[in-house]
Formats: sequence, structure tokens, C-alpha cells
Amino acid sequence: MGRWGWRLFESDQDLDVVLNLTEDLEIDTDSWEYSLSAMVHQTDMLAPADARALYSTTEYANSLANVTIPYIRQKFDTDNLGERLFAASRAKESDMNDFMQQSKYRTIILGALMMRAGARINAADLQHLRDLVPQINCNSRRPLFEDHGFRTPGKAQFLAALDHYQPGIARSFQEPTCFKCGKIEAEIGHKPLQCKKCNVATYCSKNCQRDQWREHRVSCVPLEQRFLLNV
Ligand SMILES: [Zn+2]
Ligand SMILES: [Zn+2]
Repeated sequence: MGRWGWRLFESDQDLDVVLNLTEDLEIDTDSWEYSLSAMVHQTDMLAPADARALYSTTEYANSLANVTIPYIRQKFDTDNLGERLFAASRAKESDMNDFMQQSKYRTIILGALMMRAGARINAADLQHLRDLVPQINCNSRRPLFEDHGFRTPGKAQFLAALDHYQPGIARSFQEPTCFKCGKIEAEIGHKPLQCKKCNVATYCSKNCQRDQWREHRVSCVPLEQRFLLNV
């Protein structure tokens, strides 16, 4: 329940958007062999231990990378489904009663899913995603109210994914990213460094760690002292 991490797809809010996305946009995907959530739902760290154990196996990683992801990419890329989904999602963004920015955030999640799949995204939609980012609520720590939108590491992750987007290349949102600049191992050139105190935050460099410390300090709590799973 709630939010178990700082990045994309590490909260119920994000997963709910994924689960409802095609229905909200009135695109029928009932016949699909794999649903969109199959690309991201394994991040739920509150899942039962046997489920989490399955998600950490090589077999699972291989079938995700070689079967599930290419399947969904092909679905997005066939008959311009991806473009149609963007068009449907963008058309809903002007709803004046959408105080929680749910419609705009839906477009963000759609963009993330398409990057996850490595599907084709046209230049106008990519630009639109960039333009949306600063309009989305973003918290640097756990807010008392209105827990929606990004946390800063998730926002950085999304922007880095846009910067490095290439059609045909699947972007993982599960692997460790720099909490400050959002880069993944392939862009950093080595595994991100982990904050030694909490073992949660990861960074590309000491510089990024230093730059984020004022913000991270508040949530930098060793596991044994953590009494809330929500972040
Ligand atoms: Zn960094
Ligand atoms: Zn820490």
C-alpha cells in the first residue's frame, strides 16, 4: 500500500494509473497476452516473499526482456497505437476539474511505459512530455496531503529517460538510478553508489550525492530505524 520507493512505479498511485490506462483511454487491450502492468508491477516491494523471489530470478528477467517487452513494443508500434494513445491522453488534459493533475500525470505514465517498451514516440509527443514535467506536482519528501505526482528522484529518472530515449531501446525504470540526475548504469559507466547510511538512495557520483544531501537527509534513515514503509 502507498508508496514504497521514490521513483516511478514505486507507488500504488502509479500502478493504478498503469492498470486503468487503456480503459481510461478507451483502447481495447483485453486480447493482449501481456498487459502493460507486466512491464512494471514487479517493483512492489510489499508483495509476498515468494512473488518477490520470482521477480528476482534470471528466468523472469529474461522472459521480461525477450518476450514481454518486445511483445508490448510491437503492440504500441502497430497501427500507430502509441500515437493514438498519446492523442487520447492529451485530449483529456484540458479537463478543468482535474485539480490533482491526474490526466496530465496519465500522459507522463504513458510516456514512461512507452519508453519502458522502447516503442516509437514522435517528436511532438516527446516535446509534450518535456513540457508537462514542470506542470506535475513534485515532492522532495513525504507530503502530509496531496500525495500525487512525482518524487524528485522519479522526476529526475523520467527526464533522464527522455534525454536518452531511442526507439527500439527499452528503458528500465527498475534498475538503480542516480537520485539526483536520474542516470542508469549504462550512462554512468559503473554501478551507481549507494548511500551507506540508508542503503536506499543511489548516486552516480559524490557530486550528485552532495547536491541532494539537504533534501535526502530528512529521509535518510537506516532500515532498522524505519517504522513506516511509506516514503
Ligand atoms: Zn547523478
Ligand atoms: Zn541515505
